[in-house]
Amino acid sequence: MGFELNRFQGEVDEELICPICSGVLEDPLQAPVCEHAFCKSCITEWISRQPTCPVDRQSVTSPQLRQVPRILRNLLSRLCINCDNAQHGCTRILKLDALAAHLEECEHNPKRPLPCEQGCGLIIPKDELKDHNCIKELRALIHTQQQKMNEFQQEINEQRFLLTEQRREMQLLKDFMRAMRISNPSMRAIADAMERDEALRWSNSLQRARVTRWGGMISTPDEILQRVIKRTLTEMGCPAHILDDLMENCHERRWPAGLCSLETRQNNRRQYESYVCKRVPGKQAVLVLACDNGHMAADMMVEPGLVMIFAHGIE
Ligand SMILES: [Zn+2]
Ligand SMILES: [Zn+2]
Ligand SMILES: [Zn+2]
Ligand SMILES: [Zn+2]
Repeated sequence: MGFELNRFQGEVDEELICPICSGVLEDPLQAPVCEHAFCKSCITEWISRQPTCPVDRQSVTSPQLRQVPRILRNLLSRLCINCDNAQHGCTRILKLDALAAHLEECEHNPKRPLPCEQGCGLIIPKDELKDHNCIKELRALIHTQQQKMNEFQQEINEQRFLLTEQRREMQLLKDFMRAMRISNPSMRAIADAMERDEALRWSNSLQRARVTRWGGMISTPDEILQRVIKRTLTEMGCPAHILDDLMENCHERRWPAGLCSLETRQNNRRQYESYVCKRVPGKQAVLVLACDNGHMAADMMVEPGLVMIFAHGIE
């Protein structure tokens, strides 16, 4: 559809009028031979019903339509037109080629999105503001969100169910493995080797730690401290089959003979520097793993290793 003629300032040349809609050409195209020009939307619709020029009935198809000459486009772009929102109070008169840009930002556009200032803060087309009811809108919003939450809740329940199922299956598998291991010596050897490999791989992935103050060692860490360290070990990917033993071995009651009392610890102080320690990221603690410490005296090491927690002095 072309632009209504009465929106323009002054005379508009006959050449710039669309013969189909009688408005000023919008986005014009012309027929190839007779060169009659029409709005793009007008001629496209026309051709879809009958493939001829509406003025002289010459045959025309859509792919044959062409751009109008530049002079015609220049004449069009220089026409002065009022804003689409004139009836809503816009008094701007613009060159036709500046109209689209103005409409983007015209503040008289009745559909311009505005925030509700009565408190709800929702963004609403300007013309709907007067009939807008904050409570009604917010209620609708709460309703849709409630529905979404219900859906999420259902999904969570479903996931929980699946998780329980999988846990059960895992437990079954574990029990089966354990039975195999007990009843079959070659199976036991394979499983032991797999566990050793896994522990070694994990140990190799960890960074070395340096203990600067061995005196900061906490020999009786409390429950909370132990839980924090255990969580960190889990996040570090500690193999499940050594996690609990490692954590048990963070307390002096489970330490090897050379470390188990204040007295033996003092006697063996010289040997501390020989420990290969691995870092526990972000924590004042180190891992002393048996697989890294084969060189230590037997009374200074336990399987699968131990966790040493410090008050300070870890780098
Ligand atoms: Zn037209
Ligand atoms: Zn024609
Ligand atoms: Zn305007
Ligand atoms: Zn509101």
